[in-house]
Amino acid sequence: MNLVIIGPQGSGKGTQAEFLVNELGLRHIETGEILRKIAETNTVTGRLVRETMDRGELVSDEVLMEILKDQLDHTGVKGFLFDGTPRNLVQYKLINDILALHGQKIDKVILLNLPEEETIKRLSSRRTCEQCGRVYNLITNPSPNGESCECGGELIQREDDVPEAIKRRLLAFWRSTEQVIEAFKQENILVEVDGNQPIETIHQEIRQKLEI
Ligand code: AMP
Repeated sequence: MNLVIIGPQGSGKGTQAEFLVNELGLRHIETGEILRKIAETNTVTGRLVRETMDRGELVSDEVLMEILKDQLDHTGVKGFLFDGTPRNLVQYKLINDILALHGQKIDKVILLNLPEEETIKRLSSRRTCEQCGRVYNLITNPSPNGESCECGGELIQREDDVPEAIKRRLLAFWRSTEQVIEAFKQENILVEVDGNQPIETIHQEIRQKLEI
């Protein structure tokens, strides 16, 4: 089974993705996280990705294509959970083309809806572990260790989690995903879930709507 989880930044898609990956044996393909790692490398692509992300814009489809080709290894997995992609029709086609080589396709898309004020509130409270990359939220999902991660690492605020950059990312997100969400609707694979509910309620609603 191949799933996509899509939603504005801060909608809790990372948390829900983790549940689904563990329960269904899927490989988690989180493009934001993969790109952040690439942005740290001192290469031409690394610098290009870093500059694009710092501006709050989307990286080019060409760069994303190279990354996805590397990541979509079917060995030992029951499918993929795409998180952060596809954000446009080009990316959607690309993913389905790669999956089609294995006789597969994207089966369902979970869309987590969230109002803009709530997104800004949540993202400004987001903290990421410097060591293991785990993501917490001071309000909705705090670390049991207070100001440090469960692994002991220090929790930091991402540079693109400040209000101005958040607004730019949201705009880019809706502008570019509008068309792809419409395509999912037309293909009848879109499952919409209210992201403004407790984590466990959202999880149960997703399971129920996916019939898993
Ligand atoms: P996210 O963690 O999903 O908010 O992504 C952080 C940043 O990574 C975005 O603002 C983009 O610059 C980049 N990014 C993540 N996923 C994609 C994608 N599918 N296509 C293009 N850029 C992406």
